[in-house]
Amino acid sequence: MTHSIVIAVDGTAASGKGTLAKRLARHFGFPHLDSGALYRLTALAVLEVKGDPKDPDTAVKGARAIDLNRAGDPKIRSDVVGKAASDVAAIPAVRAALLDFQRNFLLHPPGGSDGAVMDGRDIGTVICPDAAAKLFVDAEPAIRAHRRWLELQGLGLTRDESAVLAEINARDQADRTRPVSPLVQAADAALLDTTHLDIDAAFAAALALVEPKVERALKARPRG
Ligand code: C5P
Repeated sequence: MTHSIVIAVDGTAASGKGTLAKRLARHFGFPHLDSGALYRLTALAVLEVKGDPKDPDTAVKGARAIDLNRAGDPKIRSDVVGKAASDVAAIPAVRAALLDFQRNFLLHPPGGSDGAVMDGRDIGTVICPDAAAKLFVDAEPAIRAHRRWLELQGLGLTRDESAVLAEINARDQADRTRPVSPLVQAADAALLDTTHLDIDAAFAAALALVEPKVERALKARPRG
């Protein structure tokens, strides 16, 4: 599909894949796209018109109307939006509406970069099956819930930790069992379990898995 060097980082909710993807992007000087933000922005667009995230027509309208300038809006990080994101993400027409944007980002990385990093649920399986390097990031649910709880606190969103755990488990279950683009580790993705790793150790482990593949892909790239 592409001559650009793609690093696909998939994984479970709150596994740390976004932080790792950002750090990998910085390391290689590649642009990064958090594909989850596309689904969260779609969900926000639906919720803001008081629509039903499970309704395909409303959700597709939301997907077509997303405002990428709001990707940094803390509102999209709430668990209500996360749940609605998982609902809209199960609708095939929503995924189709967001597909070209994601593929274009990888095919023509912004700034003419040699490569790009994208994190999500289906990057290594559906969006870019021929990615140069694929990671599947996971950690024990209680650890992920604690990290997400801390992150939400940092955003000023005070939540009960057990509610965060329940939300994460429910979302993973929905993401794993949906018929379209389910959350699954690609056969050629390297598993990175961050349960016992702090962010620096997780990044070092991610880099050790990814760097040789990126270097190989850079060498094999057609010139000119
Ligand atoms: O990664 P994040 O938690 O922000 O994703 C929110 C939701 O968006 C996920 O629970 C999932 O349902 C959906 N998603 C997806 N495919 C992606 C990225 C996110 O289905 N590539």
